[in-house]
Amino acid sequence: MNGAVDPRRRVPRTDVLLADPRLAAAEATLGRARLKAVLVAAQERVRRGEIRPEEVVPATLAALPETAAGLRPVLNATGVVLHTNLGRAPLSAAAVAAVVAAAGHTDVELDLRTGRRARRGRGALAALAAAAPAAGAVHVVNNGAAALALVATALTAGRRQHGEAAGGGPAGREIVVSRGELVEIGDGFRLPDLLASTGATLREVGTTNRTALADYAAAVGPDTAFVLKVHPSNFVVRGFTAAVPVEELATLGVPVVVDIGSGLLAPDPLLPEEPDAASALRAGAALVTASGDKLLGGPQAGLLLGDADLVELLRRHPLARALRVDKLTLAALEATLTGPETPTWRALRATPAALRLRTERLRDQLAADGRKAEVVAADAVVGGGGAPEVTLDSCALALPEEYAEPLRLGDPPVLGRLERGRLLLDLRCVPVERDEAVRAAISRVPRSRRES
Ligand SMILES: *Cc1c(COP(=O)(O)O)cnc(C)c1O
Repeated sequence: MNGAVDPRRRVPRTDVLLADPRLAAAEATLGRARLKAVLVAAQERVRRGEIRPEEVVPATLAALPETAAGLRPVLNATGVVLHTNLGRAPLSAAAVAAVVAAAGHTDVELDLRTGRRARRGRGALAALAAAAPAAGAVHVVNNGAAALALVATALTAGRRQHGEAAGGGPAGREIVVSRGELVEIGDGFRLPDLLASTGATLREVGTTNRTALADYAAAVGPDTAFVLKVHPSNFVVRGFTAAVPVEELATLGVPVVVDIGSGLLAPDPLLPEEPDAASALRAGAALVTASGDKLLGGPQAGLLLGDADLVELLRRHPLARALRVDKLTLAALEATLTGPETPTWRALRATPAALRLRTERLRDQLAADGRKAEVVAADAVVGGGGAPEVTLDSCALALPEEYAEPLRLGDPPVLGRLERGRLLLDLRCVPVERDEAVRAAISRVPRSRRES
């Protein structure tokens, strides 16, 4: 009698399916709601006669995502080291391990020896202080923009709150800044808007291409909270230009805050034009702000380095609590600062010869598989709004552009860049142990008619 029943009527019951050990394991990682939604869709396919009842479990498992978060790991073969759309800096294995270790209960604000409360994130702060010895004190907030917002809020607060200078803090509510440095970072985010949103007044000096010390000097007065110098990270002005170095700004008698952007803590010969925290502080900057996930190669964070009294003022400001970083960030930051070379710097320092070797190997493996690809010279860039003038001699595998979409939609997704009708895959930012994954992804792309 059973054999006569239409298989569509034999849809396995949800409670029976949820008890299946394979699905129970999926529930443990993804949660019941997520699992059930996929399961119900598979049951629906049985009703429609698309799959057999015994296929519900395998079909459900195949349709489930690997993790509960929708963020998917991708292979960055774009040749852009700090790709904003791909999450800027990838964490080092050491930082990932630190994040995993800190994910549960952790002693982030407890001294285990005394059993008393301890300074939050002291390990990360100590590591940052050690990496930036020119700074009197350091603090960490959510990102570079948050660091600037905190500085602008806290250092211009005296006048607005008390009618006159608050004890210890600078006097005025104005921020003096060059017109050549009022930059848009990206995605419509404009620095002057951020500063104005804190209630501070911007006192713009100079012109787009030229600003002199005299321009600053004429604007600085009793209302000045600080002079801000911003590194225009993502563009350059060339030709008839002039800007004032930090050394000279430091003679104006008000604090100089330098937003270096990238998070380079000390000068690096690979990026000679990129400003660094140590040089800015030695030149007399009272405070330096920077991002943690650009050239520092760490997690998203905003670094504040400089004068101990000013850093303390920032740390104690009520807004600091709203900009506070998570324990995971603190863990990743500390491991980035104390651990091995970051993936970002490994990518930046990869030599053209080593990249060519890897790319040629990839080409040869693909040739053995009957796929024609060419090894071409390419230019990689730093990205992330950093070092816009720098190109890194690189190498790429050139494929027909029809490969771009299937590779992007594959598992794992492989992202390259299109150039003159070809897809270029640059291995610079691909960890060498993932070359095989790139090869496998290419081999899975159905051959086009043009190729065969
Ligand atoms: C990137 C950047 C910022 C913003 O930093 P986020 O960490 O992205 O918030 C601010 N200023 C400069 C000069 C930058 O390069």
